[in-house]
Amino acid sequence: MMATNGTATCKDVQTNGEVATPSSPLPNNSQRFTFSSEPTMEDIRRMQAEFTDERDWNKFHQPRNLLLAMVGEVGEVSELFQWKGEVAEGLPDWSDSEREHLAHELSDVLIYLLELAEKCRVDLPRAVLQKMALNKLKYPASKVHGSAKKYTEYTD
Ligand SMILES: [Mg+2]
Repeated sequence: MMATNGTATCKDVQTNGEVATPSSPLPNNSQRFTFSSEPTMEDIRRMQAEFTDERDWNKFHQPRNLLLAMVGEVGEVSELFQWKGEVAEGLPDWSDSEREHLAHELSDVLIYLLELAEKCRVDLPRAVLQKMALNKLKYPASKVHGSAKKYTEYTD
């Protein structure tokens, strides 16, 4: 879902179930994976706020601590991929237990990311829309199609 430079591209964006740039066929005509529509980011933010309130943990959950906690969880995700070599999309060689472990660690990353955004007063769903619009301007599909170059490497 990310370009090689780590930035979401317009071809990753789906609108009403349609891929934004139908000109690029999916590899091997595979079905694109989609998420469930719920819970929303706001649902997850609220559930985590309730979890934190019930435990009186807000005194520990300042932005810097949440950032460090999130980075720690990214490390836990990395550990699952460590020493495996290249891993194909869909993780065909992974066991159910490994997939479940990955789902847990990715969830930890997301939960901390959303709480960090909340505590920094970043309305993340809105911010994502704005950033994707900026990414489309920075990486026009007609100019960058099939290329992993960073925007600074393109000349008009
Ligand atoms: Mg974890």
